[in-house]
Amino acid sequence: MQVYFLGTGTSQGIPVIGSNHPVCKSTDLKDKRLRVSVWITWDDNSIVIDCGPDFRQQMLTSECHRLDAILFTHEHADHTAGLDDIRPFFFRQKKDIPIYGHKRVLENLKTRFDYIFKTENKYPGAPGVETFEVKNNQEFTIGNTKITPINVNHGNLTVFGYRIQDFVYLTDVKSIDDSEFEKLRGVKVLVVNALREESHHSHFSLQDALDFIHLVQPERAYLTHISHLMGFHEEIQQRLPANVYLAYDNLKITL
Ligand SMILES: [Zn+2]
Repeated sequence: MQVYFLGTGTSQGIPVIGSNHPVCKSTDLKDKRLRVSVWITWDDNSIVIDCGPDFRQQMLTSECHRLDAILFTHEHADHTAGLDDIRPFFFRQKKDIPIYGHKRVLENLKTRFDYIFKTENKYPGAPGVETFEVKNNQEFTIGNTKITPINVNHGNLTVFGYRIQDFVYLTDVKSIDDSEFEKLRGVKVLVVNALREESHHSHFSLQDALDFIHLVQPERAYLTHISHLMGFHEEIQQRLPANVYLAYDNLKITL
């Protein structure tokens, strides 16, 4: 399995428009972060988790040429706003693109991208999707592979993370119920969000994320959904435990 970090930034991306913050001014490419997403390939499968406003650029840069599915974590714009840009995949693959998400998320997308979901008098240039509702404690399959949704809390909102084999991707987590920890047992690579050092009402801080990683005990952990307020990549990375890495855009890892 290969995991390609398409974007590792928080909702505004880094640099933030108009910001004079030193991290926004950094020339280190690892300090430039598009909105959060990963592209995962294994066997014959090619999927992304989330599809934010930078999706088009991410597909071009990563040279992703086929999209079998999108798994959505939740409906916030930094995770969904790029949905229209699945058009080239839809046209080339000549079939509706499967999208997976919580019922609430699918309903939200139907409102915001009504033209995509239209069944009558649909504009010919619009893409098509096939929706699959993700339910907590209900595994589903892509190809022949089992996918386990993991229920986490993003402030008051329920967000899904996903486990694929020994890989777990969790973003926009502030807390996780004890009942979900069973689903994390034996994970080799854990991706989890860490916004900044200071605490936040709906996101793990750096310390929250490190405490969580300590509980889960993966072989390796990668931090994502990072704000410019975290600081410079180079400096933060040096302070992290040996098996914890600050992810950065275009990082590729193999499991
Ligand atoms: Zn987010």
